[in-house]
Amino acid sequence: MSDAVVPDELLARIRRFHDHTFPGVQAQFQTLVSEGQHPSILFIGCSDSRLVPYLLTGTGPGDLFLIRNVGAFVPPYDGMAGYHGTSAAIEFGVLNLKVSRIVVCGHSHCGGIRALYEEVNPLAKNLKVWLELGREAALPVQVSPEALRRTEQRAVVLQLERLMGYPMVRTQVEAGHLTLHGWHYVIEDGEVHVFDVNSGQFVPASEASHSGHGPYVEHLSEPMFNEIDDAYNPEFRP
Ligand SMILES: [Zn+2]
Repeated sequence: MSDAVVPDELLARIRRFHDHTFPGVQAQFQTLVSEGQHPSILFIGCSDSRLVPYLLTGTGPGDLFLIRNVGAFVPPYDGMAGYHGTSAAIEFGVLNLKVSRIVVCGHSHCGGIRALYEEVNPLAKNLKVWLELGREAALPVQVSPEALRRTEQRAVVLQLERLMGYPMVRTQVEAGHLTLHGWHYVIEDGEVHVFDVNSGQFVPASEASHSGHGPYVEHLSEPMFNEIDDAYNPEFRP
């Protein structure tokens, strides 16, 4: 047996972060420790590796409270029995962090949405149950790129509606302290399409007049992305 050390690329990466990247952002992280985190956005995104929330939103450390799961789904507030990781994070984000925006971000070519039209591996018992959170968005048609796109977008709106079933979300939205944003990110175009409640359509960000909102347009608060741009440190890349 050889004593040759197998290169561990992952170890090299975390060492590189500590030695080369971290010094450039150390002060920022230390402030985030001493003053605590105060993210204004709760971002609920699909786990897909091609969806990179920090890049999309020009944000960095301390800016996003992140929830990621298959499909960017939101369980009902008092629905299924089980461990509610997503629900717990929504409650913490709204009650403790007092976020002012919740973004639900689906995307093109979503495997979770496609799985609504396919057989799920019988070993994936949890996945099979989880996918039911998107079932209502599925269409009674033959699967096609257009059907998948529409299902991905319908699923986002479905989750926005489900968010309103959380008492602390509804209370904050109705008080005008919280806005809900539905996004569909098209990976190949690098463009977010935002849900426009007035037209019921997803509008490309390049043509949109706002960053998307759920069914409570009257509560859309002041733009916040300018602040995020100012705080963004281009040296930090996730
Ligand atoms: Zn996905």
